[in-house]
Amino acid sequence: MPHPVTLIPGDGIGPEVAEAAVRAVEATGVPVAWERAELNQELIRETGGAIPEKVLESLSRTLVGLKGPITTPVAAGYQSLNVALRKRFDLFANVRPVKTFRGLKTRYADTPIDLIIFRENTEDLYSGLENEVVPGVVTSLKVITRKASLRIAEYAFRFARRVGRKKITAIHKANIMKLGDGLFLRCCREVAQKFPEITYNELIVDNAAMQLVMRPEEFDILLMPNLYGDIISDLAAGLVGGLGIVPGANMGDEHAVFEAVHGSAPDIAGQGIANPTALMQSAALMLLHLGEEAAARRLQRALEQVYLEGKYLTRDVGGAATTREFTDAVIEKLG
Ligand code: NAD
Repeated sequence: MPHPVTLIPGDGIGPEVAEAAVRAVEATGVPVAWERAELNQELIRETGGAIPEKVLESLSRTLVGLKGPITTPVAAGYQSLNVALRKRFDLFANVRPVKTFRGLKTRYADTPIDLIIFRENTEDLYSGLENEVVPGVVTSLKVITRKASLRIAEYAFRFARRVGRKKITAIHKANIMKLGDGLFLRCCREVAQKFPEITYNELIVDNAAMQLVMRPEEFDILLMPNLYGDIISDLAAGLVGGLGIVPGANMGDEHAVFEAVHGSAPDIAGQGIANPTALMQSAALMLLHLGEEAAARRLQRALEQVYLEGKYLTRDVGGAATTREFTDAVIEKLG
């Protein structure tokens, strides 16, 4: 039986990298019944900001999505559809593995980076609760709950135990936000006690940013609330070659949506030059989730070989290949 998967190409470079990721998954030989569902800025203008029924219906049934990025207007307009989707399906854990590709020339090429970000995905300053108290004065509500903080901490620690990871670093700003980030930290500490075999430590977010740039190889699992997770993810992506590389998984108890860390990259959309690695690696995470471990490993190895050879790399990582040429090279390695 093919695995039913909701395919949301998104907009900007989304359809280009989605097509590449679908071709790569198909080349693994794993049968997937793709249900294509549109979710993009043009459609959202028509629906007045609501997620289209087709997307909701399909994801409710398939339980698994592969998603391209969606543009969100800045400083005006509708709320982020990406955030709305995560909240609607309670995709509380955003998991982002950041790993060096051997052979890829970056500033950190000689530093083996292998860290995983666990970002709380449903609350914090992404509550969407903003209020103009009087003209010229705005408040944005940062919501931190014990329930969501325990849930993401437990998810990260259980993951670490399962795969044999050794250290978890909680990242916070509890010296300033003593109540909100303080609660997040207390929850992390409470959970850490149940996992004595895993080293637990804490870093204030500004210091964490500096340590990541200076000694990224010392990090293992990073656990943090929503906004820090968003920012630190892009910083970490920059260490291993940029946003074209890093994948992600939005995990809930029932549903899972796999998407890259990057956005819709309007500056390069439609040119056929986007790097599909991040969505391909997200698709490999999806295959793992579907129980297709051998295919996931093969896809991952094919990507590693293409980077090691360095002949068909896209422009963002120093090559000259198009999205299609890069994808063909990955598929050839899948043989
Ligand atoms: P971005 O990630 O789209 O782009 C940042 C830079 O990285 C750009 O120079 C872009 O060309 C480059 N880049 C990103 N992905 C790339 C790839 N696969 N290959 C090659 N280069 C790549 O960030 P942005 O410009 O700040 O945001 C653009 C839009 O995307 C905004 O509307 C934002 O809200 C949205 N966004 C969506 C998601 C999502 O759908 N999950 C995530 C982040 C941003």
